[in-house]
Amino acid sequence: MTKASGDLIRDLIIKEEQKSERYANYARLIFTLLYILGGISIKGEIPAHSFNTLIVLSSINFLYGIFVLILIRNERYIPWLKYLSVIFDIIILSIFIYSIGSYRTFKNDGFALYYLWIVLATIRFSPRLTLFAGISSISLYLLMLYFVQLSGSVHFGTITESYTTEMVSARSIATKMVMLSVFIAVAVYISSIFKRLVTMTVNEMIITQENEALSNKLENATKISEIDPLTQLYNRRKISQMLDEIFSEATLSHQKPALIIVDIDHFKPVNDRFGHLEGDKVLVQITQRMQHSLRKEDILGRWGGEEFLIILPNTDIDTALFLGERLRKHVILQLPISSENVTCSFGVTLLKDDDTVESFIRRADKALYLSKENGRNRVMHL
Ligand code: GH3
Ligand code: MG
Ligand code: MG
Repeated sequence: MTKASGDLIRDLIIKEEQKSERYANYARLIFTLLYILGGISIKGEIPAHSFNTLIVLSSINFLYGIFVLILIRNERYIPWLKYLSVIFDIIILSIFIYSIGSYRTFKNDGFALYYLWIVLATIRFSPRLTLFAGISSISLYLLMLYFVQLSGSVHFGTITESYTTEMVSARSIATKMVMLSVFIAVAVYISSIFKRLVTMTVNEMIITQENEALSNKLENATKISEIDPLTQLYNRRKISQMLDEIFSEATLSHQKPALIIVDIDHFKPVNDRFGHLEGDKVLVQITQRMQHSLRKEDILGRWGGEEFLIILPNTDIDTALFLGERLRKHVILQLPISSENVTCSFGVTLLKDDDTVESFIRRADKALYLSKENGRNRVMHL
């Protein structure tokens, strides 16, 4: 594994963790809101200090949830935050049960709430975190039991109970611990399944990203090997290949392609007088003009320095000459500096039965030379 793909995996895992942490904190917001609403609905039935504890603890938990969500939103998420969240939940829950419930609640319903927080730890797809949540729950529950039983009598919300009459029996504690341990084991197993699912998803994401990067590279390499960087036209290699293909198709189907070779007239003096960069601009402008006057099916490529090859796939000589003439008029370019016109010469030819690709091109080239010899800025055919 390269360093780059290691970083990629870490980034993706952190992104997935952030997602699960976000869900866990949405759950935190919902539960704490329910606690607050529940507390308000039983306000008259519980002592003021219990009500206050409930509201304060739930509000702290609610604010903590918002704090984590803001951190995630601002890309400030720290992976160990999930441990802090879990321990925060369990401590708050323990104090909450201790303050609000009756002794029986503490023993039974309150105890059940630990399951809920372990389930919430599970959705973070980290078996280690789930185990941490389970062990923290057991430890805190035992600590509180010890605390309660040591004091002998404790004020639980509404009821002051004496533990001399109702001590939590060792058997009851053992049963709860066994139940909780089994639950934790199941939760750890489930979170390991979640972890595997997330790892699989991340791997798939990496493969997709790597494939995308590869196909981009391939696309780029293809472009480099086929496209002329200055004019963005097909380069000589590509247009030759296309000509070969069209030539083969033509011999099979008796379609007649035509060729036009274009050469810019007196282009060297343009470079000599205005510089190579100005010359490049003229080349690009003439290219664009040619592209605009061609039909969809015509293929234009850069054949050499200031020479272009146009393949008209299925045509007759009249159409080819008509197109050549249209191009000739269209590419006449007035130089911005000297107001002189830059023109092009054209050589046109139609495929003959006994042609090879070479003889086809040679004839178009000869026609081009005819145009040059006859004064340039014209279309000649052979
Ligand atoms: P003719 O009418 O006989 O074609 O005259 P010409 O000056 O165009 O012919 P010649 O073949 O002597 O010169 C072609 C010039 O094209 C030479 C070179 O400076 C210029 N040229 C070729 N490729 C490029 C290019 O990519 N950029 C620029 N700016 N000039 C180029
Ligand atoms: Mg030339
Ligand atoms: Mg030229």
